[in-house]
Amino acid sequence: MSERMIENYLIDMDGVLVHEEHPIAGADAFLAGIIAAGLGFLVLTNNSIYTARDLSARLDRSGLSIPAERIWTSALATALFLHTQRPGGSAYVVGEAGLTTALHDIGYVLSDRSPDYVVLGETRTYSFEAITRAVRLVRGGARFIATNPDPTGPSIEGLLPATGAVAAMITKATGVTPYFVGKPNPLMMRSALNTLSAHSETTVVIGDRMDTDVVAGLEAGMDTVLVLSGITGRDDIERFPYRPTAVVDSIAAIPVGHDVRTIDGALTPPLRSRTLDDELR
Ligand SMILES: [Mg+2]
Repeated sequence: MSERMIENYLIDMDGVLVHEEHPIAGADAFLAGIIAAGLGFLVLTNNSIYTARDLSARLDRSGLSIPAERIWTSALATALFLHTQRPGGSAYVVGEAGLTTALHDIGYVLSDRSPDYVVLGETRTYSFEAITRAVRLVRGGARFIATNPDPTGPSIEGLLPATGAVAAMITKATGVTPYFVGKPNPLMMRSALNTLSAHSETTVVIGDRMDTDVVAGLEAGMDTVLVLSGITGRDDIERFPYRPTAVVDSIAAIPVGHDVRTIDGALTPPLRSRTLDDELR
């Protein structure tokens, strides 16, 4: 098998680059290595609270220098999705600046009068009034979209109910399930690839969750590396019906630009190298 050179990385943020505001050892060196090698990358997050500029500033305070245009949030993916589906549409938004700015930037009108969509994102200030409005609009025919399905999110004080939990409340009241754009929907990965003008064959997904990063990367046709610096322990991996291409302790152990199938313990042989032609030969 010939080694495939990697040109781009899609890197999950929490648990891979940072841990609750603290940088993970080796993250800065890995990013510097990518840049020095002239390779591309996007930092991915399902968090739709912040704009890419906010996140860039927050990462900067954590000691990681990542320009805003290198950050791809579920809010940006949602805005791009709506733009391609229904350009110049209208939406009633329950969410924060990350989502409202993204929708505004692609030309959406934010309205609570017969909008095309109700778009739900992450927030820390849900109001009963806003939820009631969303429920009535969805019952009245507005299409229901949510940035991400995560039921909970992390905070320094402990876990918080997240977008998925609030979506469930609206679903209960309306009988309508939202279309979730963020991970594990591979759409989030595909829109990131498009933004980079990257190809799945030469792009690697790096993440700390099996049920979001790894499965979404896999379904978008990419090799995946699971890092053990986040939420997943080595013993958890075998419970899933799919595997990452390789497993490493942290991002520091990934050789920049090299085929991740050459990492010790990587999945072999790569399924992709055995085509039907090979079978028939
Ligand atoms: Mg993560």
